[in-house]
Amino acid sequence: MKHSDTIVAIATAAGIGGIGVLRISGASALDIANQLLGRMPKPRHAHYATFRDHDGVTIDHGLLLSFPAPHSYTGEDVVELQIHGSPIVLRQLQARVVELGARLARAGEFSERAFLNGKLDLAQAEAVADLISSGSVAAANAAMRSLDGEFSRRVQALLTAVIRQRVWIEAAIDFPEEEIDFLADTRLQQGFAALNAQTDELLESARRGLRLNNGLHAVIIGRPNAGKSSLLNALVATDRAIVTDQPGTTRDVLRETIDLDGIGLTLVDTAGLREAADRVEEEGIRRTHDEMTRADLTLLVTESLVTESPHRLSDDDLLLRYPLQPNSSLIIHNKIDRQGTAPHREIINGTTHLWLSAKTGEGLDQLIEELQRRAGKFDDHEGAFTARARHVIALERARDHLRAAAAALEISKAGELAAEELRQVQHAFGEITGEFHSDDLLGEIFDSFCIGK
Ligand code: GDP
Repeated sequence: MKHSDTIVAIATAAGIGGIGVLRISGASALDIANQLLGRMPKPRHAHYATFRDHDGVTIDHGLLLSFPAPHSYTGEDVVELQIHGSPIVLRQLQARVVELGARLARAGEFSERAFLNGKLDLAQAEAVADLISSGSVAAANAAMRSLDGEFSRRVQALLTAVIRQRVWIEAAIDFPEEEIDFLADTRLQQGFAALNAQTDELLESARRGLRLNNGLHAVIIGRPNAGKSSLLNALVATDRAIVTDQPGTTRDVLRETIDLDGIGLTLVDTAGLREAADRVEEEGIRRTHDEMTRADLTLLVTESLVTESPHRLSDDDLLLRYPLQPNSSLIIHNKIDRQGTAPHREIINGTTHLWLSAKTGEGLDQLIEELQRRAGKFDDHEGAFTARARHVIALERARDHLRAAAAALEISKAGELAAEELRQVQHAFGEITGEFHSDDLLGEIFDSFCIGK
């Protein structure tokens, strides 16, 4: 796709004293460079230049580099101006470039053009944003791998295999007299088995990549006075949550994000789980449900269950109202300082229980270690790449259609149906790399970028 307009943006978060970069891309980028420099720039050479406003007054001295199409980030003619990192000077030079024929770029517009010009696929373009916003070395390395095309290559490999299966099945449909033999060929079944396994594997990696990208999202629930706020405070080690003896102070949802050795962990303290006596409480309960649905992990804080049999947990009101999944929940037995219990960890019926005191801090280390483990801190990040929720959803869809295609063949020898299912698989994989995309999706993705990227 050819863009006739030329865009400009400040491409650095201009810190005083640092280098400021202005990026220009589009059909008149070289012409603008010519006017700024007083001659045509040499491709990929650093020219020392004096940048002036329209009255000839010097804005700044700096470097001008040009990257003629198609060998540039966007695939268009690109010019970069490096000057002093003063926001004022950068804006002055940007205004001059606009005067010379460019317009201000929208957020993510350079990367969007790179995508539309085939320089990056969609998953790679998304990795640019993930790299910039990465909160840990592991996440940055993983985003770099996605940007290098690690994730896209694996998707492409699966896509090729899917097309091969589809061609086979469609050929069988075209030769009805041989259809049954074609469809019963064991190589076809083996192809499906391999595809299924590889898709599952990629889905697992993408889920890990998503977690690496997003961090862990945990929500703290528990009855009033169980010590939720105290626990949150102990973890965050600040006084953001209100701690009080009066039940019902935490009316609203309070969020706090902490960094556990580079892995983001969002704690959400919700309105106490009281009977919905008034509308605010009802709203709190509704939000708690919402938060739990979105969270990776639910921390149930309790003090009353310490002396009870663990098997009675399921009788508890709270658990009836908020059923917990064993692999995505932790039960925190708080206030062990009152019970005289030592801090410890136990797995009961598949659910992890931890005994600690939010007040004295005993057992808190164990909780932090547990959270880090859940956040993937001890996972092997070797070869990991970052992924986004939409990738995981597309892979899940691909997996479901693959299973349906295999079943259509195996159970009913329905070639047409299997071919249609495979077309859906192909579509789902293609959505990840952007082979199939809507303008809405592009808007959603690139609008969340920063200006100048
Ligand atoms: P929330 O309603 O669940 O948020 O509970 P809070 O964090 O406000 O705590 C309720 C009361 O229990 C406060 O008086 C806290 O000081 C107290 N508390 C919280 N954790 C502990 C603990 O581990 N040991 C003791 N002894 N008291 C605690």
